[in-house]
Amino acid sequence: MSGTRPTRIVILGAGFAGTTLVRKLAGKLPEGCELVLVSDESYTTFNPLLPEAVGASIFPEHAIVPVREMIYPGADRQFIMGSVADLDLPNREVICRSLAGEIALHFDHLVLAVGNRARLDLLPGMDEHALPLKTVGDAMHIRNTVLRCLARIELESDPKVRKELGHFIVLGGGFSGTEVAGELVDCLRAIQRYYPKVQPEELRVTVLQNIERLLPELSPELGQAALISLRERGVNVRLGEGASLVTSLGVQLSNGENIPGRTVIGTIGTAANPLLARLGLACQGGRVVVNADLSLPGHSGLWAVGDCAAVPNALDNTICPATAQFAVKQAAHLAQNLAATLHGQPTRPFSYRSRGMMASIGHLKGVADINGIQLTGWVAWLVWRGYYLALMPSFGRRLRIFFEWAWGMLFPPDITHLRFKRSHELRTDEARRQREHEAFVHLEGLDPKHMRVHPVD
Ligand SMILES: Cc1cc2nc3c(=O)[nH]c(=O)nc-3n(C[C@H](O)[C@H](O)[C@H](O)COP(=O)(O)OP(=O)(O)OC[C@H]3O[C@@H](n4cnc5c(N)ncnc54)[C@H](O)[C@@H]3O)c2cc1C
Repeated sequence: MSGTRPTRIVILGAGFAGTTLVRKLAGKLPEGCELVLVSDESYTTFNPLLPEAVGASIFPEHAIVPVREMIYPGADRQFIMGSVADLDLPNREVICRSLAGEIALHFDHLVLAVGNRARLDLLPGMDEHALPLKTVGDAMHIRNTVLRCLARIELESDPKVRKELGHFIVLGGGFSGTEVAGELVDCLRAIQRYYPKVQPEELRVTVLQNIERLLPELSPELGQAALISLRERGVNVRLGEGASLVTSLGVQLSNGENIPGRTVIGTIGTAANPLLARLGLACQGGRVVVNADLSLPGHSGLWAVGDCAAVPNALDNTICPATAQFAVKQAAHLAQNLAATLHGQPTRPFSYRSRGMMASIGHLKGVADINGIQLTGWVAWLVWRGYYLALMPSFGRRLRIFFEWAWGMLFPPDITHLRFKRSHELRTDEARRQREHEAFVHLEGLDPKHMRVHPVD
């Protein structure tokens, strides 16, 4: 206890790291401690499942879990949905914008677990024309864009425009790029039956990878297995060819070649969470510098874990990669170090040997390296899905997701183009269209009775 107040641990960010930390602290804290988790969304995003949401193998809501379900029950904890705006370090307060306005939260210990962001400025034109994949909103937007392109091709007579609309270009051949390309090509093949005026050969997926192999995080054999699988399914993988410019009509390569395509999905690069720059903390490669025990140098009671932190791995003296696996392990380790600190005991350095890496490269296909054992095909895919299913917070949710995933394996993908239009917006849209129509008729001097009207949205 600090004075009469309970000792408060505030955790910022309810991703893999933040929610694991809350769960692992259960039962470890001394009496009179309370936990407050602050995050700007009410759900945790299982980012590795986003490519499957893009390819409509799963519903977008299967890639997210409500934070409250992740961390409750537990009387010692509170979740506040709010965006962290600032830190008042001298007064040990977090300033956040919540549903009740701006609030100042006192802390005794503060954990930064705010993750990173998609990088949008790596190439000229990327910000305006490429679609990033980092949030569930990004996944839904890409999925809707793909569905809109197919619907537009059906109405288009110009072969050049049809070709551009049917070409989906993925920038990057790392985990996200390879996974998205595999999902997309399977999805296009499965849903083409619903678009009878679109020919299968009009739909193409290209991956641009600026080095000579896919999945550089995995062994060359698994990268090669992924390459063969994608090429067998018709994906045009161009190795050693990087984009230098993105436009609304496609991508220009470093050698000047133009690749036409109206949809460009950007999976290259990550950017620091802008909050870190605002806080003025020491950073390395856009990640907060931390000591071996995950505390911040020179700031007593401040800690950081997950993608936002440059965590040294005592096992091999390297900086940990920004992956879900490391975020979860760091959070579990920090739970022990925080509990030790609060009990007046010494902390331990973080040390972890990766159990392996996995990637899902399309419906029922994957590549995995588990403790040195290399798996490909549906076995790898099953292990991959099993791992993320195991991370789901409750048995009920696991069972539900399992059955819904099983459903998706047996039946074609869902082609609902979901838009959240409220009645008020529909009314405003109709009024706007009517005004535009009247202005057009007036300008052209047309007789409205003899006009053919094409509704456009
Ligand atoms: C498309 C994609 C595929 C991936 N595939 C894999 C994979 O196959 N395997 C793997 O291991 N890793 C994968 N990753 C990486 C993995 O998702 C991350 O390493 C992991 O999510 C990191 O966890 P985290 O808790 O540090 O950050 P996050 O999970 O990003 O969580 C950060 C949380 O902080 C919140 N937040 C951010 N800023 C604020 C603020 N100012 N105020 C309040 N809250 C805030 C966010 O809303 C979020 O809830 C993938 C990532 C992406 C994008």
